[in-house]
Amino acid sequence: MSEYNWLTIQEARALLARREVSSVELTRAALERIEAVEDSVRSFITLTPDLAMAQAEAADRMLADGNAFPLTGIPVQVKDVMCTEGVRTTCASRMLADYVPVYNATAVERLLRQGAVMLGKGNMDEFAMGSSCENSAFHPTRNPWDAARVPGGSSGGAAASVAAGEAVYALGSDTGGSVRQPAALCGVTGLKPSYGLVSRYGLVAYASSLDQIGPIGRSVADCALTLSAIAGHDPRDATSLPLKSPGYSLPGAGADNGDLRGLRLGVPQEYFAEGLEDGVRQAVEQALATLEALGASVREVSLPSTKYALACYYIIAPSECSANLARYDGVKYGYSYDGYSYDEKAAAGMWDAMEQTRRHGFGPEVTRRIMLGTFALSAGYYDAYYLKAQQARTLIRQDFAAVFETVDALVTPTSPVVAFPIGEKTGDPVQMYLIDVCTLPVNIAGLPGLSVPCGFVSGDSHPPLPVGMQLIGPHLSEQTLLRIGHAYEQATEWHKQRPPL
Ligand code: GLN
Repeated sequence: MSEYNWLTIQEARALLARREVSSVELTRAALERIEAVEDSVRSFITLTPDLAMAQAEAADRMLADGNAFPLTGIPVQVKDVMCTEGVRTTCASRMLADYVPVYNATAVERLLRQGAVMLGKGNMDEFAMGSSCENSAFHPTRNPWDAARVPGGSSGGAAASVAAGEAVYALGSDTGGSVRQPAALCGVTGLKPSYGLVSRYGLVAYASSLDQIGPIGRSVADCALTLSAIAGHDPRDATSLPLKSPGYSLPGAGADNGDLRGLRLGVPQEYFAEGLEDGVRQAVEQALATLEALGASVREVSLPSTKYALACYYIIAPSECSANLARYDGVKYGYSYDGYSYDEKAAAGMWDAMEQTRRHGFGPEVTRRIMLGTFALSAGYYDAYYLKAQQARTLIRQDFAAVFETVDALVTPTSPVVAFPIGEKTGDPVQMYLIDVCTLPVNIAGLPGLSVPCGFVSGDSHPPLPVGMQLIGPHLSEQTLLRIGHAYEQATEWHKQRPPL
């Protein structure tokens, strides 16, 4: 292990600026760490060490020329759902196992323009459908805090790589919790931006009205730096908001950044309901006390339509998925079924070839979602399911709008449970879906959500496992959420804990 493996972006940036370390050295340290721990974590689908070293050399030249940006020369992992030019982008699916994009996703492009160093592509649930990284067609990722447990999902590789000291930060994507929930389960920080703030161009679509790219890092400040780089209008995404990246800044260490006086926080009682583990509840309640001690006022609030969120999400997301994934037909992209004998091939028609491609190319969860979505959208059921879900979506949005008349932000658990054993929930999809009860309302309403480490749960049968607290704010309130999260982190040590790996 090297002293460089646990640096934050801010720390690495300071060392690079003072020329106390080079990007080549940082990158080499990251690659050596990967070499040492990747067999037990498996956070990557594809490693790009040669590319990373070339990018590191280019970054060192930028630094030498005085052309450095905040992310120049710092190693990152990119979830394998974002297109990377010349580097295969699988979405953890057999369907795209050999797909090599000819362009970069806008978010990736913006990192690379700053001189970021890409270590490789992160493991995930297939097409971002899942909460545990067990739906990857290639291999599961293990939680760095306990190798017998999941890292969360779907951006499990992103969170695990940061928690394990492999990457300094990572890009994930979040449709119903996929950045925040794995961040919580791995003890790192994750931000889902407001819908439309970060371009979805080059993000392989799962549910287009919910998907957002977001950063995972070792501190709130690192998420702020990454968001500053990737946010802002992109003409290639029709849902991209017409605004420039505001540049999210936080007070530096030592400054008076702990003052939350005047800030009004709401605690939605519906998020502290049945199914919430005691240890998680205690950690979040303690975090609330800390926020109060920092000057915030805390009151109980209610979001009564929360009870519809899970059902609403599991109609809307599969419906959009069934439309988005229709493009994988064995002709235009990726995998094409080739199991026919010569005679069969002549006899099989186009429909049969398509059916075989989809049967063999998609894993069971993706197939389930496509079937659910196709059913919900079909004639005769559309009004009963899809339309109803859209109506519930409006109620959920209205709940948030009403509550943000009286408070500036909400505090909830990120996940009702800590990391669970690999295999524990794979047989019961509803149990798996329930993990996202606290995160998916945020996507339904298009709001920003930030998960910050806020404690650990110890048990006889497992090592200490991290807990995350979620901060939710109104549309485009990222700066406020980052300020609260940063103040909390300055007052606590949770984000500085490292797994014994
Ligand atoms: N676990 C949720 C799902 O399976 C959310 C996934 C995500 O945010 N991409 O749909």
